[in-house]
Amino acid sequence: MNKDRINPFFQEFPVDYLYHLGIDTTMDISSVFGNIKYVIFTLSNAEAKVLVNEFARDIYCIPEENFSYEPIYKTERFHMYKVGVTIIISGGVGIQSLLICINEVTKLMVHLKKYDVCYFKIGLSASLGVPDGDIIISNQVANSTFTKTFKSIECGTTYEYPTILNDKMAKSFLKFSKTHGFTNVHSGINLSAHNFTDMQIIMRNNLIYDDITSKNKLYLSKAYDLGIRSIDMESLSFTGFCAWLDIQACVVNISIVDFLVHQKITTTMDTQLKMLAHFAPVLVAYIQKSGGLIKQLMGHFNKHQINSYKIYQPHLLSTNVKADYLYSLKVPIDNKTIDNFRGIKYICMQGSSDRTKTLAKKLAQLTLGIEEIFFTPHNLFKNAFFKGYRIGNILCVSHGMGALSVVTLLHDITRLMQASGNTDLEYIRIGTSGGINIEPGSIVITNTAFDHGLNPGCKMPIENNEVTVPTHMDNKLSYRILQAQPEMLPFKLVYGNTIAADDFYLGQCRFDGAIKPRYDKEMQQEFFKKIMEKDIYNFEMESVALASFCARAHIPAAMIAVTILDRLHGDQVTSTSEELAIFSDRTHTVVIAYLLSQMDIKKSS
Ligand code: URA
Repeated sequence: MNKDRINPFFQEFPVDYLYHLGIDTTMDISSVFGNIKYVIFTLSNAEAKVLVNEFARDIYCIPEENFSYEPIYKTERFHMYKVGVTIIISGGVGIQSLLICINEVTKLMVHLKKYDVCYFKIGLSASLGVPDGDIIISNQVANSTFTKTFKSIECGTTYEYPTILNDKMAKSFLKFSKTHGFTNVHSGINLSAHNFTDMQIIMRNNLIYDDITSKNKLYLSKAYDLGIRSIDMESLSFTGFCAWLDIQACVVNISIVDFLVHQKITTTMDTQLKMLAHFAPVLVAYIQKSGGLIKQLMGHFNKHQINSYKIYQPHLLSTNVKADYLYSLKVPIDNKTIDNFRGIKYICMQGSSDRTKTLAKKLAQLTLGIEEIFFTPHNLFKNAFFKGYRIGNILCVSHGMGALSVVTLLHDITRLMQASGNTDLEYIRIGTSGGINIEPGSIVITNTAFDHGLNPGCKMPIENNEVTVPTHMDNKLSYRILQAQPEMLPFKLVYGNTIAADDFYLGQCRFDGAIKPRYDKEMQQEFFKKIMEKDIYNFEMESVALASFCARAHIPAAMIAVTILDRLHGDQVTSTSEELAIFSDRTHTVVIAYLLSQMDIKKSS
């Protein structure tokens, strides 16, 4: 690690709070993480679990039926497992979510003075010219314009981070995989989706699908000619971060669809996870070989076992799914799905899946009269990146963190609603945020979402023109929400503007991220002053994406966010989990008052 580029500030804090991991430095982190040599970042918890099981089985020599590996610390945002010398952690969908995750994991390593930890980013991805089940190893990542840089806006200034890693780890892992039976491993550049247009290409679910098909083909064949072989949505921030800090790292993707052949994913989630499980032993062997071996019980490395892993054979695993499949929700659009989702009007979205379930429980009691003790809402999206719970005509759904994650959800949920014949919809995001000049625990109902350059609107190319899509929330819906609140709320509620950043740390002008900031206190205060002049009350990471998507889809949207700190007084989120639960409950109180008011209107009309 390049120690000169690590942020010195957080290392001096008496206590450092790694908010999203649920860890702070008063805990005994050295006895838990003291032996870590590798960190593996996956996208979903389902993928992390597959790897954990493979690692645990191989390292500890315990048959899977005899153990169940549990995540450690907070599971609201990421799922972190520790097996032997390896941390396996799900970093969520999109560059923004991964960036938060890698910041906090790296800070943890720095607190432990572990400067030589190696990182893998492993996932299931689309590919170009690579058969399903084959593996692509990359040390270079391109953005949507095929430039190998990650752009980050920090305190109003744009910085570029090169996304080319030292090739040592990618080369050695490629060689190791090939000599251990995996002849279907390739090296290639990874393309990482960054913005809304990329999303349309990657997810294929865009609102104007037909229009981009031919452009899409041209784009992808140009990408192929440039050496791009895999496409995901997280590797840009991963490589930008690792290259900047000189962290040994590489990106590994398993192809689940070759976009040059077709753009529908036809393998089930189950098959995809089997592909990952099939490749995992070579990763375990690599980590053991390169110094990570902890010989537990009789668990010494069995070379014959590794050599016996066969090249993946698609015909053995592939189970075709219906062509119209909502990839991020893991549901096909069929009659059963349509029956499950018909009649929904309100979509209540929250970043955290735990809070989503809590809201569903409250709504069951308040709208349907079902006592919480008799009722456990069931997640309707098994093995998916997001979780969803239905209560009458309300769907509570999680969206993860950051713009790419929320837009991924919005595409699939909107298609699901369209397919189920639900046209009268309202989307309400309920979230947490960092307040600016407002006391923690206050609620902000967003009028307009501003980007990190302090402009309203979201620039995106539509039909070859750069168009600014408005980012006002639906003012009629926001007004109805405000009107539904009782006169004397026990907390402050304001209607104002919100700024959406692409990062929690440098992107929100913090001094407690892993990377040393290139701004100082004075620049931060200047930036906050400009923010306040625009009537902006809070920072979060999804409002621009939500408002612009809904403007294009003509769906009324609103956002209710609680502030969990005042950024004028600090960067760290130091509230206890009880305090955070109270803050989060306030957003539930506000949305529930609105939903109940709508039900009264229905009953009396
Ligand atoms: N969410 C954010 O994006 N920023 C904060 O400061 C708190 C919550």
